[in-house]
Formats: sequence, structure tokens, C-alpha cells
Amino acid sequence: MKLNNLPSEFQEALPILEKIKSAGFDAYFVGGSVRDAILGRPIHDVDIATSSYPQETKQIFRRTVDVGIEHGTVLVLEGAHEYEVTTFRTEDVYVDFRRPSQVSFVRSLEEDLKRRDFTVNAFALDEKAQVIDLFDGLTDLSGKILRAVGVPSERFGEDALRIMRGFRFAAVLDFEIEPVTFAAMKETAPLLEKISIERIFIEFDKLLMACFWRKGLQFLIDSQAYQYLPCLTNQAENLQKLTSHLSDDFQFSSSEQAWAFLLIALEVKDVKDFCRKWKTSNDFMKSVHQLVEVWNFRLEKEYDKQTCYKYGKDKLILVEELRQSQDLVVDFERILDLDAHLTIHDKHEIVVNGGHLIKEFGMKPGPDLGRILNAIEFAIVDGHLENEQEAILDFVKEKGHL
Ligand code: ATP
Ligand code: MG
Repeated sequence: MKLNNLPSEFQEALPILEKIKSAGFDAYFVGGSVRDAILGRPIHDVDIATSSYPQETKQIFRRTVDVGIEHGTVLVLEGAHEYEVTTFRTEDVYVDFRRPSQVSFVRSLEEDLKRRDFTVNAFALDEKAQVIDLFDGLTDLSGKILRAVGVPSERFGEDALRIMRGFRFAAVLDFEIEPVTFAAMKETAPLLEKISIERIFIEFDKLLMACFWRKGLQFLIDSQAYQYLPCLTNQAENLQKLTSHLSDDFQFSSSEQAWAFLLIALEVKDVKDFCRKWKTSNDFMKSVHQLVEVWNFRLEKEYDKQTCYKYGKDKLILVEELRQSQDLVVDFERILDLDAHLTIHDKHEIVVNGGHLIKEFGMKPGPDLGRILNAIEFAIVDGHLENEQEAILDFVKEKGHL
């Protein structure tokens, strides 16, 4: 098969292939970008694979960066672009089921394509826009099927992250998983416990944010792979709530929203503990925690000024979207109205700070000062107190806080 129009991302990268070829080596576009080009989907990173070894690649180009030279990857800087150029390789011995214990550079494209995870990820594309398809990936692409390259159980046994990648690709591409591949995913799922949770998080997160996340999630549930993920053991029923409680066309609008709803569905009591087990960033943990708090607040009450101020309108909207998708009462107008009428959105907007109070009243830094500042903030947000110096100082005197 030949691509009719080589997408511009590849055209721009053609000089790289040509330079490598004129130095006497083979070079191809490989990986997800080729799959996406054939499908007519947007292309992100154009990856290049070559028979030249890293040191040889570095001699071909003027500007290169060693980004992962032990894995054979050299970053080539060309004009405004940068491309990962990776030596053809095989990954032979997996002792710990995580990462190849040994990467061997090879001169053959076929060897390189064989180690790739799914047939639709194992294409190469040459400079003439000819697709090299050694594993019948084109048939799978048109049948919308994910099939492991080679013997599925061996491939997942080598690297169990591929199981999660499979669910993720099903969710992104709206693909079914070929039965033997799926059976191997089930069989090797216990090996997920050996995979770094950060890598699993990335795949699960991409799954939840994908257009066809319901499909990806269903594969995760049906395969029982969730049994081997932190805090998800024996949670099939709760996981299923994501698809049964949210309306059919619902798409998460942010990762934080997706994970917050996951935690809500799982009835997680200790959000921080969950996030620590998934090794999320602290910022992510904070956002998810706040969204769960807002969700719980909203189950009992309507939003008010203080809640809008504390969490910000964006978080309230994210929660309201989740509610809307479940046919719960929503009021987006109220959120916008509360926000529009907030006297301040941040405590730094308050015209008096701790320093002023220390100077004016000779107060000492410490918990008492903190309490007064909180009382000022609360009163301003509530609308009882004007954000004006004299009024605030009077407030402090009147309240007998001194
Ligand atoms: P995306 O659209 O998310 O970038 P992608 O298919 O490009 O999807 P990447 O993670 O960028 O996925 O990997 C690039 C290519 O490297 C894949 O298409 C696949 O051929 C190969 N690959 C990546 N990870 C693995 C893995 N764990 N096992 C086997 N092959 C892999
Ligand atoms: Mg990619």
C-alpha cells in the first residue's frame, strides 16, 4: 500500500530519511504516526527507525542530543523540528517483566518491527510513502482489530504494560481486541503488579480521556486486569458504575475530573492514600481531592459564595458536568453568577495583609494572626466586609481580635 498524500509532518521529516540513506543506511518512519496517517487521524510525533547505530547517526547530523542512547535513540534537531531517531533493535531477555534487560541493536527492519506490541503499531513507511506491513496490520486496521505481534502470551509476558496499552488503544481507536490476544491479556494480567505504577497511570489516564473510554474500560473489567491495579481489587461493580451512571455520550473534560469520578464510583474514603498508591503528582492529588469534596458538598447543598471562592468556578463546573451526565439537578448559571459577584478570587487581592496588622496593632506572627486573616477573608467573601483598609482595620478592632 502506498499513501496517496504524505502528510506534511512526514514531508518535513523527509530530509532526515534522505540524509541517513545517503550515508548508506536504511531509515523509515515507524510507530503510531504511521498508523494514524493511514487512518487519517492527526499525527503527533514522527518517529524514525534506522539501521545506523547511535554513534553513526550522530555523525550524519550536525545537531543531535543523546536522549536515550542506551536504547538507541538520538534526538536530531533539524530546523525548528526535532526527531527521535532510533536504531533498529530487538529486546531479547526480560528478566523482571518490565524492561528489556538487554537491548540489541540490529541492522534489520524486520527484527525491529517484530518487537512492537500490536500489528497496527508495527508498520514502517519509506520515503516514497510505501507502507511496509509485515504482520498484516492493514487488514487489522480496516477490521478495527488489535492483535499482538507474534505469540500474544509471550509478548505480554515480556512486558505486561502492553496489556494496558492494548486497552488504551481500544479506547482511542474504537478497536476490538482479537480473541487470542485478549485471552493472553487475561492470562498474563497478574504480571501488571510488576509494572511501575507511573507507567500504568499514564495508560489508564489516556484510556479515560479517549473518545471510546467505555470500550477500553470494559476490556479492563472483562479481562479482570483491574484485580492487579492498586485499590481496584474486587471493584468490578464499582468500576462498572463509570459506564452505567454516566450518560452514553459523556466525555471527561479533564484527567482530574475522570479520576475524581473514578474515586467517587469506587467510594474511596481516603483520596490521598489512593493517589499515593497510584503515585500521582501532589498537584493532581490536590485537584482530585477537591473535586471529590465539591461532589460531596453538592450532594447536600447548593453552591454558595464560600464554596465558589474556595474551590474556584472551574472545579464547580467539572462537578456539575458529572452531575448533569447522571441526570442530577444542575445549575451552571448559579456558578457563573456566584463567580461574577465574588468580591475577591484570591486572598492576595485583600488590601490588608499580616504585615499591615503587625505594624498597625503590634501583633505577633503566629496562629492568632492566621485566624484573624482567615476571619477577614471569610467576611470579605461573604460580603459583610469591604475590601478596604479602614473597614478591615475597624473590623479587626470591633471583633475584639486584639
Ligand atoms: P501515541 O499515539 O500515544 O503516541 P504510539 O503508537 O505512537 O501512540 P508510543 O508509546 O508513542 O505509541 O510508542 C511508539 C511505538 O513504539 C508504538 O507504536 C509501538 O510500535 C512501539 N512501542 C511502544 N511501547 C511499546 C511496548 N511497551 N512494547 C512494544 N512496542 C512498543
Ligand atoms: Mg507516539
